[in-house]
This record gives sequence, C-alpha cells and structure tokens, in this order.
Amino acid sequence: MAPALEVRDLVKHYPGVMAVDGISFAIPQGICFGLIGPNGAGKTTTIEIIEGIIPHYSGKVLYNGSSKTSSFQEEVGIQFQATSLFSFLTVQESLETFHNLYREPMPLGKVIRLCRLEDILSRRNNKLSGGQKQRLMLAIALVNDPNLLFLDEPTTGLDPQARRHLWEIVETIKAQGKTVVLTTHYMEEAQILCEEIAIIDQGRIIAQGSPDDLVRNHCSGVILSFPKNGCAISHKLFSEKIRLICPDMKIIDAPNRYEIMITEVNLCIEALLRDGIDLSLITIRPQTLEDLFLKLTGRQLRQ
Ligand code: ATP
Repeated sequence: MAPALEVRDLVKHYPGVMAVDGISFAIPQGICFGLIGPNGAGKTTTIEIIEGIIPHYSGKVLYNGSSKTSSFQEEVGIQFQATSLFSFLTVQESLETFHNLYREPMPLGKVIRLCRLEDILSRRNNKLSGGQKQRLMLAIALVNDPNLLFLDEPTTGLDPQARRHLWEIVETIKAQGKTVVLTTHYMEEAQILCEEIAIIDQGRIIAQGSPDDLVRNHCSGVILSFPKNGCAISHKLFSEKIRLICPDMKIIDAPNRYEIMITEVNLCIEALLRDGIDLSLITIRPQTLEDLFLKLTGRQLRQ
C-alpha cells in the first residue's frame, strides 16, 4: 500500500532563513506521525507546504502515492496552530457553516459526539474555554471526514486534563484508521500518540523512528537525580564519587535538580551506600524522549 503521505527533499527559503532544508519522509496509512523540534525548526513551514498553504518551494509532495490533485483539499482536515472564529456564532452554527462547505461531510451528530461538544452546542465561540475551543477546532478539521488529519500544536496552552481529553479524541480518530500528522512541543504527547516521530532542527530531520526505538538507540543509561537544595552531600563531592565508578557519566543542567546520566547504576548505588551517603532524596529514572530531544537539539533557546 502506498504511504498516506510522502515528501521528498522539501526546501523552503525565506530571505535570510532556510526554513526547510531538504526534508524527506513517508507516512504509512493509519499511523500518527509526529514532527517535533524547537521553536523555529521548520515544522509549521513543512506541514503548510504539504497542506498547500505555502507556495514557491522545491521538492515533491505525494498523497497516497501520487501528486496532489484538487481532491486533496476535500480529503484532508487541518487544525491550524491559531484560528479565529466568528465571535458571535454558536458552536452549532460554526459546525453547520463548515459542514455546508463539503460534498460528503461526516454526519454532524457523529462529529459532535466524537469531539464531545454535546453540552456546549448553544454556547457562543467567544465564551469557550481553551479546551472547548480546541475541541471545536478539531471538530471543524474533522467535518469533511478526512482520511488525513493535520494537527499543529493542538494542545498548546491547555491544562493537563483538557490535554488528556484531546489525546483520547485523537486515539479514537486513529482507531478509525485515519492518518494523523501532529506537531507538538510536548514530548509526552508525542510519546503517547505517535507511532513514529521525526525530530526537526534548523530545517532538517536529525532523527526519526518510533519514540521507544529513538530513546533506546540514542540514550544509554539512566538518570540519577537529586535536588539542588536539601541534600546532605554537595553536588561536587557527589559527582566526584560517581565519576570514579562511572567515568563516562554526564552532568545535566536541570532547573532545581542535579541530574547525572550514568550507565553503571547498580555499581554507583552500591558505592554510594558503602560511603554511607544518604540516598533518600535521590531518584533514578529511565531516559525519555525529552532527554533525547534536549540531547539532540541542545538546551539553548533558538530564535
Ligand atoms: P514553532 O514551534 O515556534 O511554531 P516551527 O518549527 O513551526 O516553530 P516555522 O514556523 O516553520 O518553525 O519557522 C521556521 C523558520 O522560518 C523560522 O526561522 C521562522 O522565523 C521562518 N519563517 C517562517 N515563516 C516565515 C515567513 N513568512 N517569512 C520569513 N521567515 C519565515
């Protein structure tokens, strides 16, 4: 079966900025594919080229194995990073407005149930909470019953409960066999929703694979973490002791905590205990997608 979406060597240049610098990937049917990367990495530019919003680029975009035709607009759904709605329309009226634009829309009742909008249908758009607005935007993206759905940072600014709510809806959409392209700044979101991710930095893909494989292949060892305040032993003494056992250890600069990446966790803990060091404030955790992201993209703020 042809990939749902394939891009080959996409390049987009703005004056003084190489926004997308030779990006290629293929997305199998029915998976959630995540694009993650720091601010300004080129994620939105990439998906807006695919969506047909950004003109004048080089490279190829293939949909179901062929060049895009006019049916592409009918068959995809897009939830933009930011969208303005008519303030004084209700949720029901907004849905009907978009529903009427398509020849073969999803039945409105199904969209409403899927995005859990039943209780707010008569509410005006300007009275919606952040989470309610995102559910409405998702419903509008789904109203044409798309096979391919683009979600550009759909949970930015939402509280943890609203974010989980949206994840559940995306899982339901995936279970219906739809292909999802997601950009996000939340590594937990990418880990939970995506079968495959591409990490983009400075317009290029710097790593790609399933979240678990990426972490396994790029990050060996575990993180030993302890608070900057409240530990009886100083950070310097602690790291010197660990370096004796684990010379390849790396100190990670994290807010409020010292984090040390070590490979020989059992040997380190045994040695610390032998020295009578109090380990009650120390935690050991596996490496995550976030650790990988920071390792590959660095920790400095990108402009
Ligand atoms: P974020 O996570 O902050 O949304 P992003 O990864 O989506 O970032 P893009 O919005 O694709 O990044 O931007 C990539 C680069 O291209 C940035 O340096 C941005 O300033 C630049 N850029 C984007 N659009 C334009 C434009 N219309 N004109 C000039 N430069 C642009």
